[in-house]
Amino acid sequence: MTDMGLVVVGAAGRMGQALIRAIAATPGARLAAAIERKGASEIGRDAGELAGLGPIGVTIADDPLPAFAKADGVLDFTAPAATVEFAGYAAQARIVHVIGTTGLGPEHEAGIAAAARHATIVKSGNMSLGVNLLAVLVEQAAKALGPEDFDIEILEMHHRHKVDAPSGTALLLGEAAAKGRAIGLADNSVRVRDGHTGPRPEGSIGFATLRGGSVAGDHSVLFAGPGERITLSHVAEDRAIFARGAVKAALWARGRKAGLYSMRDVLGLDA
Ligand code: NAP
Repeated sequence: MTDMGLVVVGAAGRMGQALIRAIAATPGARLAAAIERKGASEIGRDAGELAGLGPIGVTIADDPLPAFAKADGVLDFTAPAATVEFAGYAAQARIVHVIGTTGLGPEHEAGIAAAARHATIVKSGNMSLGVNLLAVLVEQAAKALGPEDFDIEILEMHHRHKVDAPSGTALLLGEAAAKGRAIGLADNSVRVRDGHTGPRPEGSIGFATLRGGSVAGDHSVLFAGPGERITLSHVAEDRAIFARGAVKAALWARGRKAGLYSMRDVLGLDA
């Protein structure tokens, strides 16, 4: 089989550059095109040079359609509205779309689900092996430690530029905890606390968010019980782990039928 041609959208972003480096380091994958938003100052620059690899002969462009038409897959860590648009193009081209974008609302999720009728989509709030394994452990712990005794709190910290909260990973871990408890996350989460909140509702899953510096992503899930506390944590030292996971997801998805897949499917992890 020929190398899988991948388009990186949001190529000048933090993750975009990490994706360009990860593709260069992965046998079986090649950078087919690099796309940025119209008017971005990086248009016309060499994608490899921008990512610190030296020139690779792929120029950053602003038109996704011709790029998608000649590619096998798209790696997308951009913004919710852009991701829904890209999912539509990936569906038209019937190619793989790996979505790492977070902060998606129900309207974005609906657009992505519609595109997954024709595109092979892998979507995850975190593409690392470690966090997806952590989610499995959280699900098991939440099942074993009942709500009458153990309260679940999820704490995350990210760099100062992050625009959405709680992080996609914190929500992914919250979903895992809710699944372990056989409850819905949306009806049982406390995402902010301020002022006179009253006592903690039994069975709720709490979130706390820290922002600052250059932190790539720290997450802890605490199970706080009577006289003891269990903490399950993951520390991302480098965003290369997400980029490698995204490239792996694309290679896994190649040739699979259209649909919406998760990183757990890619990694073969199950609770
Ligand atoms: P970033 O540095 O702001 O990069 C996003 C890039 O996408 C920017 O260059 C942005 O351009 C570009 N973009 C936005 N709309 C676009 C469009 N319509 N067409 C082309 N390019 C467009 O952010 P980041 O730190 O890389 O993170 C990006 C996303 O990935 C966030 O949602 C983040 O939470 C998520 N993330 C996910 C994982 C995971 O494992 N799932 C890991 C890390 C990050 P402008 O600057 O011009 O807007």
